[in-house]
Amino acid sequence: MLFNELGLSAELLRAVSEQGYTQPTPIQAKAIPEILKGADVLAGAQTGTGKTAGFTLPLLHRLSQSAPAGGKRPVRALVLTPTRELAAQVSESVRAYGKNLPLKSAVIFGGVSINPQISALRRGVDILVATPGRLLDHVNQKTLDLSKVEILVLDEADRMLDMGFIHDIKKVLALLPKTRQNLLFSATFSDEIKRLADGLLDDPVLIEVARRNTASETVEQVIHPVDKSSKRKLLAYLIGSENWQQVLVFTRTKHGANRLAQQLDKDGLSSAAIHGNKSQGARTRALADFKSGKVRVLVATDIAARGLDIDQLPHVVNYELPNVPEDYVHRIGRTGRAGNEGKAISLLSIDENKLLRDIERLLKRQLPREVIAGFEPDPNAKPEPQVTRPRGNSQGRHRAGGRNQSDRGNGSAAYAGNGRNRNGSRQSRSANI
Ligand code: AMP
Repeated sequence: MLFNELGLSAELLRAVSEQGYTQPTPIQAKAIPEILKGADVLAGAQTGTGKTAGFTLPLLHRLSQSAPAGGKRPVRALVLTPTRELAAQVSESVRAYGKNLPLKSAVIFGGVSINPQISALRRGVDILVATPGRLLDHVNQKTLDLSKVEILVLDEADRMLDMGFIHDIKKVLALLPKTRQNLLFSATFSDEIKRLADGLLDDPVLIEVARRNTASETVEQVIHPVDKSSKRKLLAYLIGSENWQQVLVFTRTKHGANRLAQQLDKDGLSSAAIHGNKSQGARTRALADFKSGKVRVLVATDIAARGLDIDQLPHVVNYELPNVPEDYVHRIGRTGRAGNEGKAISLLSIDENKLLRDIERLLKRQLPREVIAGFEPDPNAKPEPQVTRPRGNSQGRHRAGGRNQSDRGNGSAAYAGNGRNRNGSRQSRSANI
């Protein structure tokens, strides 16, 4: 299948070819023709499948085919995303694919000044990409009118629900015209997502593509058992001896991310940390430095890394395993994207065996263990009592947390209250991420 068989305009095909894409990914091949027809779509697709272009290209096509009557441009397409990073990335895609079209776009999220956003909205915007909290701030300040929206996209809807955005989403839905096209993208289909889809979508076309991450053949996964106290040395050794030039490292806590980035820097490996306590500017800078190669190691917490679009990321390291097994799948989804090979390495200390068992149960397979010579774990080591298990899987991840303030506040409150802290646990994850 070729891009020019999908029914997209010449301007869009030119932009696609400038991106260097030759063939549509499976989600693009399935979703683009349906969206062009005007159908509502329920798509099961994770980051890394090419889903962004899957909805952005037909959305741009449809908007460019009809122009609103004179006057200020009303917002005609609204894309909601759970995180600032994802909003920024979707907006970059809209700009890149729409560069040959006379359409205007803007992105709005919290953690940055609202005034430039107000100015952009005042000038007129066809496509708006936003996180829910800041979007509602604009609505409350009467700087935004959503009454002319023709197409609504909920991107990473499962993550939006995880983060406690359901009430905000409902508030936004109430502001939209009744007749519109709705596109819902979600990596997972919980009962809560199904309920949302039932209320939102009109006779939707269901599109599912293989879950790349669990089934992925492109991501090689390996576990290195090691003592906790030797993890940093092992990481530095692996980066140096294997000559990794770009590596994304996950820690469980913000504090851990900062400390590790500082220590690696001292070891001579240029590093930066990215997490919810960093200002938006600092996060954007760290990501840009990482992409350009100025920073070799990016240390991130789970939610901060969610949705990061880094092309062809060759190495992902779990410095600590995540408490929630699904986060492992999201983490390794940063590598081996769109058909590129990738490697996911996990450093496993004795107290993380249980977390690994949960992950392997989710993946339905055992991951290979490989002890690195010189870093053999102490066979007499005792596990330290630490983080307890996540709540039961049946509904745990979807408990309604308080509304997440992260996309409104100034960063310091980011991601607090996402409903994921565990009972009685020494480490409250929601406070630490
Ligand atoms: P997404 O799932 O939208 O986050 O996209 C994942 C990555 O795939 C991004 O880095 C895109 O630039 C890239 N991508 C999207 N569509 C294609 C395509 N048709 N061919 C190759 N790469 C693509």
